[in-house]
Amino acid sequence: MSQPASLFAAIFLAALFASVVLQLWLARRQTRHVQSHRTAVPEHFAGKITLEAHQKAADYTVARTRLSIVDTLVDTAVLLALTLGGGVAALAGAIGELPIAILWQDVALVVAVALIGAVIALPLSWYRTFVIEQRFGFNRMSVALWLADLAKGALLGALLGIPLLCLVLWLMARAGPLWWLYAWLAWVAFQLLVLALYPTLIAPLFNRFAPLTDAEVRERVERLLARCSFAAKGLFVMDGSRRSNHGNAYFTGFGAGRRIVFFDTLLARLQVDEVEAVLAHELGHFKLRHVLKRIAWFAVASLALLALLGWLVGEPWFYAGLGVPLAAPRYGVALALFMLTLPVFTFLAAPLASLYSRRHEFEADAYAARNASATALVAALVKLYEDNANTLTPDPLHSAFYDSHPPAAARIARLEAAAA
Ligand SMILES: [Zn+2]
Repeated sequence: MSQPASLFAAIFLAALFASVVLQLWLARRQTRHVQSHRTAVPEHFAGKITLEAHQKAADYTVARTRLSIVDTLVDTAVLLALTLGGGVAALAGAIGELPIAILWQDVALVVAVALIGAVIALPLSWYRTFVIEQRFGFNRMSVALWLADLAKGALLGALLGIPLLCLVLWLMARAGPLWWLYAWLAWVAFQLLVLALYPTLIAPLFNRFAPLTDAEVRERVERLLARCSFAAKGLFVMDGSRRSNHGNAYFTGFGAGRRIVFFDTLLARLQVDEVEAVLAHELGHFKLRHVLKRIAWFAVASLALLALLGWLVGEPWFYAGLGVPLAAPRYGVALALFMLTLPVFTFLAAPLASLYSRRHEFEADAYAARNASATALVAALVKLYEDNANTLTPDPLHSAFYDSHPPAAARIARLEAAAA
């Protein structure tokens, strides 16, 4: 290995080691913190949540955190085997023997690497659904439905992903030194297309959507939408109960295609004013341009990363340092290595993204307090935390690192201050 390649290999290993140690340490903190608060309902929630529900949330959180440890270790082993262990090099060598054009060899290599990752993730996904979710009473999926979801997901991923992959690899090979700029335009256009197709073409492949018929909820929601001057193309109820007992509500689509979707599990559990408050919170995300800001950040980050890849593609140490010594750049190899190793380097940015997201959640809560009822939102949140068995006592550091939503106590304290 050349000197720059050894240096890069050392940096990669150090970053990987640091991120794994940090993940394991945070997971241990989380399990200890949750277990040490298991014996009593936090003072603030006394009378609102039973000890039994509190303990179920603690056990559920610990079970999921332990699974995340296994997940981290498996991912790390696979990453090492594919890179420095020579996996990608062996695959590239074998695919290089195929009597097909270089472009198709590159496509085949990236697909093969993605497939390996997906297949290795399957047993954990199975365990999550049929052992953990099952044990805590959340799973409603049959094995047949799980397999059907898997097949549909794989088919959809191939239908959408392979043409995009072909386009990007073709641009890398043919579009000159600024290929990454064109690839970025294609990538952003692709993401917007998926967002636009999602509500009407993609989501219905997995769930049934029926117009919201409950007259009382309908009227209340329509008044809220008028008050917030928000036009939606329709109000729908989704059969979320087909898969799980977790509840939710969301907005989807663009412009005139915007629709509001309620999980049937949410409507079954909440009072009318609570449904209104939850929807007002979601509406807040739209009205405060959170969705737009996230898309903009995503586009900026994608541009920076593609520019980085544009540079790395031409650097021999990038390939050699990750276990694929090559005489000349290979676009498929570069793309595969980049996708595999990127999470190692971006992991440390996770707390910033979480912080940004939690700020939006507080803003959306404040919006809901102004346009609906803070008291009703508190009642809804308590029910949702209980029903979803979300812990009320997360480890503060674990929460700061990962959680897209602020801890329950912090959200409810702010809402109660707004209601007073
Ligand atoms: Zn939110």
